[in-house]
Amino acid sequence: MEKISKQHCIYEFAAAAQPVLTVQPGTQVVFETMDCYGNQITESSSHQSIELNGINPATGPVAIAGAEPGDTLKVTIEQIELDEVGTVYLRPGSYGVKKFVEYPEVKRFPVEHNELVFDRSQRIPLRPMIGVIGVSPREGSISTLVPNEYGGNLDTKEITTGATVYLPVFQSGANLAIGDLHAVMGDGEVAGCGVEIGGKVTVTLELIKGKQQALPFVEDEQYYYALASHESLDVAAELAMDGMFHFLQEQFPHLTSNDLVCLLGERGDLAISQVVNPKKTAKFRFPKR
Ligand code: CA
Ligand code: CA
Repeated sequence: MEKISKQHCIYEFAAAAQPVLTVQPGTQVVFETMDCYGNQITESSSHQSIELNGINPATGPVAIAGAEPGDTLKVTIEQIELDEVGTVYLRPGSYGVKKFVEYPEVKRFPVEHNELVFDRSQRIPLRPMIGVIGVSPREGSISTLVPNEYGGNLDTKEITTGATVYLPVFQSGANLAIGDLHAVMGDGEVAGCGVEIGGKVTVTLELIKGKQQALPFVEDEQYYYALASHESLDVAAELAMDGMFHFLQEQFPHLTSNDLVCLLGERGDLAISQVVNPKKTAKFRFPKR
């Protein structure tokens, strides 16, 4: 087992990224992560904005020996351990429920016995998830705030313990980075953030050689999910549907296009991961059985 500390973090997914660690396929790696505020917020506060020095760090990148463009990186999430306190930093905004935020406020929530202590009388069950998981893009450097075809800030609550994430490899070594854990978050991430928290993520890294989906995919016990991101939620939704169509076409080559459309209409579910990042993320899920 390899371990990478939270001091090794990036703020951009870069085509020319230099890995801090190279592992063989099949290796388990523990990524220690900061929260999306870079662990800079340590107290509750209200009525004041906080200047943050860098936002949304992702720990890494870790190269996988032998990964080449055209391959798929398979990341199995074995375990997510959370730190002891989560943070919600509410900021006034113009979209959705953010327009009801009256003033900036930091709320801190202790994590105890698999629950978030919301206040004296209410506890919320934890649903730990990974907000940022991605590899080097085709070209350039792109902020870790953005989700895209290489992964990134996908903020999809199904990226959790027991799930497997499939990411297209665009650069030798793939260069995986992980960060932005949430103790709990609903579909949409409508408050502008989840319960942001640091922690440790244990993953197993494997390669699927010579085969690639155009989009990030997630697999859990029951479903496959195609994840697509775009400035327009309409376009993201269409890309997610297209991605699942092409995936099923490969799985079921004997079915006609019309048969597949029938199946997608009857058993597929189109949903929203998040609407608060520079690109919005839609997900289309299809049952494995
Ligand atoms: Ca995020
Ligand atoms: Ca976050």
